[in-house]
Amino acid sequence: LKNIAVLTSGGDAPGMNAAIRAVVRACSFYDLNCFGVYKGYEGLINNEMEPLNARSVRNIINKGGTFLKSARSKAFMTSEGRKKAHGNLIANQIDALIVIGGDGSFTGALKLSEEFDFPVIGIPGTIDNDINGTDYTIGYDTALNTVVEAIDKIRDTASSHNRLFLIEVMGRDAGDIALNAGIGAGAEEILIPEEDMGIDRLIDSLKKSKKTGKTSSIIVVAEGDKSGKNIFELGEHVEQHLDGYEVRVSVLGHIQRGGAPSCYDRVLASKLGVGAVEALLEGKRDIMIGIVHKDVTSIPLKQALEKRDHQHDRLIKVADITSV
Ligand code: ATP
Repeated sequence: LKNIAVLTSGGDAPGMNAAIRAVVRACSFYDLNCFGVYKGYEGLINNEMEPLNARSVRNIINKGGTFLKSARSKAFMTSEGRKKAHGNLIANQIDALIVIGGDGSFTGALKLSEEFDFPVIGIPGTIDNDINGTDYTIGYDTALNTVVEAIDKIRDTASSHNRLFLIEVMGRDAGDIALNAGIGAGAEEILIPEEDMGIDRLIDSLKKSKKTGKTSSIIVVAEGDKSGKNIFELGEHVEQHLDGYEVRVSVLGHIQRGGAPSCYDRVLASKLGVGAVEALLEGKRDIMIGIVHKDVTSIPLKQALEKRDHQHDRLIKVADITSV
């Protein structure tokens, strides 16, 4: 093992820079050459890579986004595109590829490994926390803090005007952001993809809250919630069925992805980046590096793509109890 390439792929997440930095510096520490690939798989297909040394990654641990840039590559979804990508890896004498990204990026990495017997390692970098085999993904903690801060601000308006706010947060398949930020920001109701609360129950619950003296309310809604309505339709429905509240909708959108990474994400990214290089040195391949109960662990990349079993039951109960 001599030459390692690293890329970031899919949606960017705060802490990706810290992960790249850790990979580059671990390579330097262990006397390996590290190559940075720009624009994810797109850059791999177009041969956009260059050597990185320990000094190339200075002053980036505190920056959001990814200095290597990220991309969604349609070409990499085709076997022709992957053939080109593999050709460039071989031409540059790369021995292994480290992919920082989410499940889509891991699916692509696995194909590269299966089709060309090329060693790959995944590092979970996505704000969604929707990957199996790791308690946390890089960027999730920062996103949570961003969402809580935003909801706190909206709450000021909600309580000044007796308004009910529906706030949409990211999470098409995973309710982690909605549930944790919802509890952290004291939301009255939290709608997540993993549980169908039912609109009638939602209205009943809001009516009950109103009776207990609440004059404003925050409902946090994950993008993939099971109400079957988009957030604006849901807002209209709630306004029609609930007297005495003005209803407003706020979609937080891309602010959730940006910003300086939290300390937790910087440390997590550093641990996983070093872990990825060390795993390669131990002869491991086609795995994802993750964090389980504070320990850096690894599971086969295939397993990382399986359905995640983060249990929400306890958090749902805590949310119910603390919002009475
Ligand atoms: P996030 O969840 O944060 O958006 P992600 O890694 O899941 O991150 P995707 O856009 O799903 O983001 O995937 C990133 C890239 O991985 C795609 O643009 C594509 O190049 C590659 N990829 C995804 N799915 C496949 C697939 N089935 N086969 C080959 N490549 C794929």
